Amino acid sequence: MDKFRDECGVFGIFNHDEAARLTYLGLYALQHRGQESAGMVTSDGNKLNGFRGMGYVSDIFKEPQLSGLPGRSAIGHVRYSTAGGVSLREAQPFLVDGYRGQIALCHNGNLPYASQVREELELSGAIFSSTSDTEVVLHKIARSREPDLVGAIVDTFTEIEGAYSMLFLTRDRLIAVRDPRGFRPLALGKLGDAYVLASETCAFDLIDAVYLRDVQPGEVLVIDEEGLHASYPLPKERHSHCIFEHVYFSRPDSIVFGRSVNKSRHKMGQQLASECPADADIVVPVPDSGTAAAIGYASQSGLKFRFGLVRNHYVGRTFIEPQQSIRHFGVKVKLNAVRDLIEGRRVVLIDDSIVRGTTSKKIVQMVRQAGAKEIHVRISCPPTKASCFYGVDTPTRDELIAANKSVDEIADFIGADSLGYLSLDGMLKACGDAPGSRHCTACYTMNYPLKVTRSARTKMEREEGVLAVESMWPRH
Ligand code: SF4
Repeated sequence: MDKFRDECGVFGIFNHDEAARLTYLGLYALQHRGQESAGMVTSDGNKLNGFRGMGYVSDIFKEPQLSGLPGRSAIGHVRYSTAGGVSLREAQPFLVDGYRGQIALCHNGNLPYASQVREELELSGAIFSSTSDTEVVLHKIARSREPDLVGAIVDTFTEIEGAYSMLFLTRDRLIAVRDPRGFRPLALGKLGDAYVLASETCAFDLIDAVYLRDVQPGEVLVIDEEGLHASYPLPKERHSHCIFEHVYFSRPDSIVFGRSVNKSRHKMGQQLASECPADADIVVPVPDSGTAAAIGYASQSGLKFRFGLVRNHYVGRTFIEPQQSIRHFGVKVKLNAVRDLIEGRRVVLIDDSIVRGTTSKKIVQMVRQAGAKEIHVRISCPPTKASCFYGVDTPTRDELIAANKSVDEIADFIGADSLGYLSLDGMLKACGDAPGSRHCTACYTMNYPLKVTRSARTKMEREEGVLAVESMWPRH
């Protein structure tokens, strides 16, 4: 499907006899955040052991792998690459030995300056085992003069800016760090005497853990035998939570940034109905992510809600992409229209975003072929006009249809009778926010909360013309 792609998911647990198995379940619940690779490191109090693999969590971890990961604390990761290559070398957690002992690390987010720091490190003799931006953090920690790991982490992140919700595991501690802007989510929960951490609270629900609070932006949270030790040593910044987590990435059953994702999506749909009404008979979601907004749209507009598109949930990674000659097959294998519900009706089709427009075009065509009289497409967020540099895989502006066409031109392109987007203020209001106060909305507004340098050698360079380029590296 033509979507922004999820970044990664992290899970951690401290002080539980079943640490590896619970981490397996936690990663299973976070699978939607990354399907390329998964990994886990556990600590038995003396030694760290890890296992990583390519593919889905359930394919990688079987009984022998879990039995080989003893201990009462663990961290785990599911990955979709936003920086670096796609191979086992990039799979996380990373596990290294240093003069402070063994350290394991996993990361959700992106460090836009990593390639520049990496170049500097390589020039001074450092060698790397992967292309991942995360490995740079381990090098900076190893070089810090701070005697303790927490001091070295603070040292590193005082210098390197970016988007990061990170978990570190040592022999006897689990450490969570969240960047001062709080781009990506990270929640803290409790399961009996154990503490758990996860990108989304849906991971807590699966293991019957209770959500306590979010790890705060700029917080360093140490969990050890004595309990929780929270500190806020990183420079304060205006919060910039990724609003796309509420629009699309996170599961609707999660609480993200302290707010129910389902509630936000439902309100987006209601707001969309007020802003972009349509003279129609039924409201149909593009499943699954458009469903909550469609229910909200139907409740506000008084139109009937119908599951007019059915999704095949069993299309996995191994699906062989069709050749050009039968390319419509690609969408049909994932979605199918229910003719009985659609035929002869005026349909409001609700989706959460249009990225390139190619998939929307095929879906509109499919609904038309099922006999719809009119198709009015409504999108539960504003036009997506810019790329993300904070841990989300996005196309370049050249490929983003809303960066290059007007709303009417997009409607023409996808073949809809009308097209309407939720306004920026409407989206922020639906997420419980006032305009611009605590969310990042850069992929709609190009208002990037963390500026980039000309020398930060990431895909930002390709967007140089549209970014406010500032010299913010090095920070000191
Ligand atoms: Fe999220 Fe968009 Fe900001 Fe990226 S640019 S962090 S996707 S809101």
